[in-house]
Amino acid sequence: MKKIHIIATGGTIAGLGEAGRTSDYNAGQLDVSELISALPPLDGTVRLTFEQFSNVDSNDMTMGLWLGLVKRIHYLANETDVDGFVITHGTDTMDEISYFLSVTVQTDKPVVLTGSMRPASSTSADGLLNLYDSIYVAANDASRGQNVLVCFCGTIYSGRNVIKSSTFQVDAFDGRTPSCLGYIQDRRCFYYNTFGPSATRHPQFDLDGVTVLPRVDVIYYYTDAPSDIIDIHAASCRGLVVCGTGAGNYSQSWINKISALPIPVVRASRVMNGMITKTGHFDPTSNTIPAYTLPPQKARILLSLALLQTEDYGQLKDIFEHS
Ligand code: ASP
Repeated sequence: MKKIHIIATGGTIAGLGEAGRTSDYNAGQLDVSELISALPPLDGTVRLTFEQFSNVDSNDMTMGLWLGLVKRIHYLANETDVDGFVITHGTDTMDEISYFLSVTVQTDKPVVLTGSMRPASSTSADGLLNLYDSIYVAANDASRGQNVLVCFCGTIYSGRNVIKSSTFQVDAFDGRTPSCLGYIQDRRCFYYNTFGPSATRHPQFDLDGVTVLPRVDVIYYYTDAPSDIIDIHAASCRGLVVCGTGAGNYSQSWINKISALPIPVVRASRVMNGMITKTGHFDPTSNTIPAYTLPPQKARILLSLALLQTEDYGQLKDIFEHS
């Protein structure tokens, strides 16, 4: 029998509002014990333990809470007989925390994130099925060594690549990118893509002794965006991510400003699909780094973690190229 540990952090899955309605609710209201007691019966192959780590809307998550969560997972993975983890979390920033955990958590035990788009009090709330499915993804032998996973609406995604793609539909994450690994139905997992041993695919950042992560801001480019916004952010950051157009592009006035900055700048894109590999004329002084396949919100996490190790442009570029 597998022991699966649920770590609840809040989100819409624990949300409550007017009975039946899918909008106008507060996230992070129900206690994890109430969620567990509402689950359909489990079969004899799994047993659950659980804890309330936080109970917040995921927009109120902080990098400090992320650090605490990594510590907690490492303790439970190394010092207890837990076989796998399910983390309930708001969907708004699930693609950020799933990436963060995928490059910092060092365990072969499955770590599966899930949540819901509808609060527990709504008609056809999706939280319980997502939670139920996630328990069986975490308990599945094939999930071991798959790094961090997101299970949502019957689909199993890689935590590295998954991205939220709908503001209100229950199938709210993107399976068109390489993030879809397989499906779950009635306790059975169907894997079609796998990542192999996590360490070969992801850089692992050791957070032992780390209490604060370097500040990295994301700035958004749009037609005629004023370049003074760059100075404002650069004044308080160790690095910047530009959410550019197309393949991480922006205007000549931004190029001039960015090439004079003393801090590293990653060029990501507001376009959801594809990759960015080239620096070209955007990089007259070699301080920009292409985000490759990472969207801005994930590139910001990688730059922050990478800055714990180095400020060298070549090494930072290498980390991005191989992440
Ligand atoms: N605002 C909510 C949150 O991210 C949305 C959700 O969970 O779907 O916590």
